[in-house]
Amino acid sequence: MRFADSDTAFEDAFYVIFGAPFDGTSCFRKGSRKAPTAIREQSYNFETYDDFFGVDLADVAIHDAGDLTLTGSPRENIEKVRDFTASILEAGKTPVMLGGEHSLTLGCIEAITADVGVVVLDAHLDLRNEYMGERFSHATVSCRVLEMVGVDRFVSLGIRSGSQEEYRFARKKGVKFYSAEDIRTKGIETVLEEVVEHLGDLQLYLSVDADVLDPAYAPALGTPEPYGLTPLDVRSTLRVLSGNTVGFDLVEIAPHYDLGNTALLGAKIVRDFVAAKLRACWDSNPGCGLRRPV
Ligand code: MN
Ligand code: MN
Repeated sequence: MRFADSDTAFEDAFYVIFGAPFDGTSCFRKGSRKAPTAIREQSYNFETYDDFFGVDLADVAIHDAGDLTLTGSPRENIEKVRDFTASILEAGKTPVMLGGEHSLTLGCIEAITADVGVVVLDAHLDLRNEYMGERFSHATVSCRVLEMVGVDRFVSLGIRSGSQEEYRFARKKGVKFYSAEDIRTKGIETVLEEVVEHLGDLQLYLSVDADVLDPAYAPALGTPEPYGLTPLDVRSTLRVLSGNTVGFDLVEIAPHYDLGNTALLGAKIVRDFVAAKLRACWDSNPGCGLRRPV
């Protein structure tokens, strides 16, 4: 089954969706390897037209490339993601990965050859150097990304979990992160203004670890963490950042822990990334090669 409204051929597409069904390093609840299929199923719930962004997804050139076959080691799977993402970027298209676990995000970012800023939405710092003997784990992904892009080009939002060592490391290195509490206190719009100011006009990669959401909204997660963000905080983030975003992923949904609601919200977040980027591209550069929004 394809993601809804993704019936454009690869050559003609502006967005290329692909599934990355791997959850081998997940430590608490496994199951995110099932998320690409669950998210695709739920994507058929929605109207093609999205009035918030003024975009009809039936008019948007989206290709669904299906799932990668990820049967290797964590590092080998990351390399497969990297190579496939590189083929999408080289063709001038925007990759949208449906995880799978968060470790795979590293492959997407390794595929980007230009200077890039990285914004991660996550409950967890993911700043361990290794976890259970593995350097390429969902619990170490932000540490690997930081090594690649440097501390000035990395921001995480919605943080509320990490070891003492991770928080110490983050503060010592000056890693810019906003806790869920910071976002509640300051408001997401103010936080996003600060993020935009910090990253300037860098192109961005945006990674959404679904556990950034409060488990009341998204209970089917690999590692749920209470006191989280709302779906509207995530939509605001998409509205502000998507126009500048060259690649996107949604990871860490473990769909069989609920009746489909988390995958449904995940499908909406993916659709809103597509719509938000299209809207922003058109607003800043009418005729940017995309169909005109409504
Ligand atoms: Mn994560
Ligand atoms: Mn997380």
